[in-house]
Amino acid sequence: MSSRSPILVFGHLCPDTDSVVSALAATALLNGRGMSAVAAMAGPLTPESRFALSRFHLPCPEPLGSVSGRQVALVDFSNVEQGPPDLENAQITAVFDHHRCDALVAPRTPELWLAPVACCATLLSGLFRFYEVSLTPELAGGMLCAILSDTSQFKSSSTTAQDRRAAEELAGLAGIKDINGLGAELLAAKADISGCSMRELVLRDFKDFTMNGHYVGIGQLETPDSKPLISLKKELLAACAELVAEGKESVMLAITDLSREGSYILVVTPYPALFEQAFGQPLRDGCAWIAGMISRKSDMVRPLRLAFESVRS
Ligand code: MN
Ligand code: MN
Repeated sequence: MSSRSPILVFGHLCPDTDSVVSALAATALLNGRGMSAVAAMAGPLTPESRFALSRFHLPCPEPLGSVSGRQVALVDFSNVEQGPPDLENAQITAVFDHHRCDALVAPRTPELWLAPVACCATLLSGLFRFYEVSLTPELAGGMLCAILSDTSQFKSSSTTAQDRRAAEELAGLAGIKDINGLGAELLAAKADISGCSMRELVLRDFKDFTMNGHYVGIGQLETPDSKPLISLKKELLAACAELVAEGKESVMLAITDLSREGSYILVVTPYPALFEQAFGQPLRDGCAWIAGMISRKSDMVRPLRLAFESVRS
């Protein structure tokens, strides 16, 4: 590969709005610093990210092809298991992330920008200032959408003061006066399940984790009203069971109701007791309501990891 081929900038598999918009933002940042970068995405747009791009007239990143031998910059993830399979053969030049970083394989030292904020776009908005690269109103609007999405409209326990401050600054740049109104439009787009198979719903916003040597996959659907989704509980559980039958050890789908501020969890696992221990609720037919559970990172992954790690392997 020629040394002139641009740095490929992309987020995790099953990209969410943050992965798509932060890829565009990091690309603009790297280009603004005189590097050559191009944005890509490791999966199709979700209804929410499609809304965010069209609302702010942003281009759609190109579909990610092979990354073998390429220079890459990662946004919104830093664990190679959440990226494409040939990522280990790429040269990671930069990482911009807000998740726990525990499986990064990078032979040469990359630029590492990690911060415990709720959204990668929050971190990037600060870096535009740091590098004195100007941010377009369009990108600012897209980044505001990413923050609204990742913080579940500031209801998630992972929300920090920096996320709120960045959202206000970006709203000013984008000319958005009603942040809550934009959040409601975004959530309506996110909750659109028309024409989707049960499997597509489980996998729409799905992440793979390894907990004490055990595989756990967690999908999340956010909605202003969980009733339509909960009426599909049996079918959604069957789709989770299908993924388990294909080799995923434990699969959980969280249906997060932002009006009631909690989540229904649907779980198919050989270790139901560990899920009950993690969330303090019995599973009935593989299902439970967990009040206050909104953030995957803080309210789902963290307690589950502790439960799995409490078992001697
Ligand atoms: Mn993400
Ligand atoms: Mn994110």
